[in-house]
Amino acid sequence: MKLKEPTSNQSSMNKISDLVASLSPSQTLAMSQKSQELKAQGIDVINLSVGEPDFATPDHIKEAAKEAIDNNFSFYTPVPGYMSLRKAVSAKLSRENSLTYAPEQIVVGNGAKQALCNVILSLLNPGDEVVLPTPCWVSYVEMVKLARATVVEVPATIESDFKITPDQLRAAITPHTRALLICSPSNPTGSVYSRDELAALVKVLAEHPDIIVIADEIYEHIIFSGHFTSLGSFPEIADRTVIINGVSKAYAMTGWRIGYCAAPLWLAKAVSKLQSQYTSGASSIAQKAAEAAYNGSQECVEVMRRAFERRRDLVVDLASQIPGWKVNRPEGAFYLFPEVSSYFGKRDGDRVINNAGDLAMYLLDVAHVATVDGAAFCCPGYIRLSYATSDTNIVEALRRIKEALARLK
Ligand code: PMP
Ligand code: GLU
Repeated sequence: MKLKEPTSNQSSMNKISDLVASLSPSQTLAMSQKSQELKAQGIDVINLSVGEPDFATPDHIKEAAKEAIDNNFSFYTPVPGYMSLRKAVSAKLSRENSLTYAPEQIVVGNGAKQALCNVILSLLNPGDEVVLPTPCWVSYVEMVKLARATVVEVPATIESDFKITPDQLRAAITPHTRALLICSPSNPTGSVYSRDELAALVKVLAEHPDIIVIADEIYEHIIFSGHFTSLGSFPEIADRTVIINGVSKAYAMTGWRIGYCAAPLWLAKAVSKLQSQYTSGASSIAQKAAEAAYNGSQECVEVMRRAFERRRDLVVDLASQIPGWKVNRPEGAFYLFPEVSSYFGKRDGDRVINNAGDLAMYLLDVAHVATVDGAAFCCPGYIRLSYATSDTNIVEALRRIKEALARLK
């Protein structure tokens, strides 16, 4: 169906708010949508753009959802989530992360995305600053924009394994700093801060008792060496740390849309108030499924982790053989973030590659492989590949990429 364009006298009626006009659409979702459109046209696109496990949700979790339907879990849910789920999350945080958050301090939302946005909107005023190590996930900057607050980027590069130093953190803090927002294991780099590295950052934070620490730990289980350390486990900052997490990545449940924040009580109450006017409690059936995920056997998490580790080895091996790419060895999540600037200024016929966005589009059009421009993660000069796909797809995608890049002169 062809949609009607607005006529000129309708244009002011059709004007969207300045706030929404100032937002960028999610580049990860946009690229994934584009590759699905190409697939629908019959083009054999390999989608390494969106970050989501390619596994089916484990059977015992699906069974719990079916039972919830049969048992008529069909009514509005409490705004912060079922108490049984919040108890399961509280027990999980204690068991796996040695954290003490009472169920009342946990607010379940529609994915970690909403949980994080709730926290940002509940915490920040215009003029407040959020210290943000970059590269960072696409939605962080836009969420801070929604709160009309300001991002202070702290850039890390491949040379420091995409991790910031305590000195960088100290230098970024001003009297306006309200929060630090940090993600480990990282989307888009896969880097993981060790306990010692986190301790060094905590030392700086201990000097600034008014800063709220927001730790996005959604990839905690997808880690390939060492042991995951939660930022909330440092006593110096425990009472002002907000944990963001959810079931999307660990249990292959991206579409179920269940995430949570675990926060100081005053903040959890504010988040709940916001959510009560905005979306209400999350889906009843998905919450019962999430409860089964946390209370049930954790074997499925380890099975998927092992698959991601094998794929990490494969993708690093193949990407390291691509001329001109600088590649790190990610210790977690399921992303590779190569530096690709050696291709800038090169051409294939009329097509010139000026930046990583051009390169991502070139790879989509010529190699039929969807990746994401590093600029979407506040890091131009890089592209992101999600390797949450089959070994066959990884091998074929990297073969095509190498072949397409070889045409650039
Ligand atoms: N944080 C990070 C770092 C992510 O990559 C994502 C995307 N899955 C989310 C939060 C949001 O996850 P979800 O809303 O699916 O729980
Ligand atoms: N977090 C995933 C990604 O980075 C899912 C897409 C999104 O929510 O932006 O690709």
